[in-house]
Amino acid sequence: MQTVTSIQSMREWARDKRRSGASIGFVPTMGYLHDGHLSLMERARRENDFVTASIFVNPTQFGPNEDLDRYPRDLAGDSRKCSDVGVDVLFIPEAGHVYGPTHQTYVEVAKVSLPLCGAFRPGHFRGVATVVLKLFNIIGPQKAYFGTKDFQQVRVIRTMVQDLDLDVEIVPCPTVREPDGLAMSSRNAYLSENERKQAAALHQGLLQAKRLFEAREPVPTKYLDALTTRILTERAAEIDYVKFVDPETLEDLGQVKDRALAVLAVRIGKTRLIDNMLFER
Ligand code: AMP
Repeated sequence: MQTVTSIQSMREWARDKRRSGASIGFVPTMGYLHDGHLSLMERARRENDFVTASIFVNPTQFGPNEDLDRYPRDLAGDSRKCSDVGVDVLFIPEAGHVYGPTHQTYVEVAKVSLPLCGAFRPGHFRGVATVVLKLFNIIGPQKAYFGTKDFQQVRVIRTMVQDLDLDVEIVPCPTVREPDGLAMSSRNAYLSENERKQAAALHQGLLQAKRLFEAREPVPTKYLDALTTRILTERAAEIDYVKFVDPETLEDLGQVKDRALAVLAVRIGKTRLIDNMLFER
């Protein structure tokens, strides 16, 4: 595996591969890799001639009081993991090169960026869309792999690809979970032992609501009740949002229909976690 830090070298490598007719699969990450990230890379490995992964803790997607400075890092471990799953090039650009001193252009995906995490993290999806477009322009992948744990992010990226006529296929991938159901996340490393136990309530709450759905519970309020009640039994839990939304538009459904996405963002102590589950008949 090659590690590339220069944007120019990355661009040249990718251009060379594309000219030879080879396909490139791309997995953007912020590093501190876990099995969720690796599942994306493994899928990219199966579906493409070459695989590029990036590690870039993108400053423009963090708010002023968020965890940019303490975001966990382990470049040596990440590099080993990428190499083990067959990544060809690990791209680790420097923030000062990605955003030069004169940088002033941003991508705004107007509607789907607004609700849910967009409402709690103003500017977050603008930063995400901007850096993903930049990485697409540098690498020019045929396919790019994203986890549906970050459901709104996938909606934002897909909308950008459609609206700006980008020639890349977005491949959404399922959420990889810990044995107790907690969605894997680099931010889980912030949790104390006690908080880590409480964090399992997010997935358990989603499962409880799903059981009601499968039993065709007729009282609409019971779904949200079951989900929030389970989460709030944990002392460290504070809810940012818990909702049932339309999986395409992300608009609040008010109640569960035949197709609904349960979405949540919950703070366990100081750590903000997100998760979701699709309910579908
Ligand atoms: P991040 O490093 O958190 O920016 O995540 C990089 C990519 O990995 C994003 O597309 C995430 O949605 C995806 N990802 C993060 N956690 C998981 C998980 N538990 N399962 C599957 N994909 C994930």
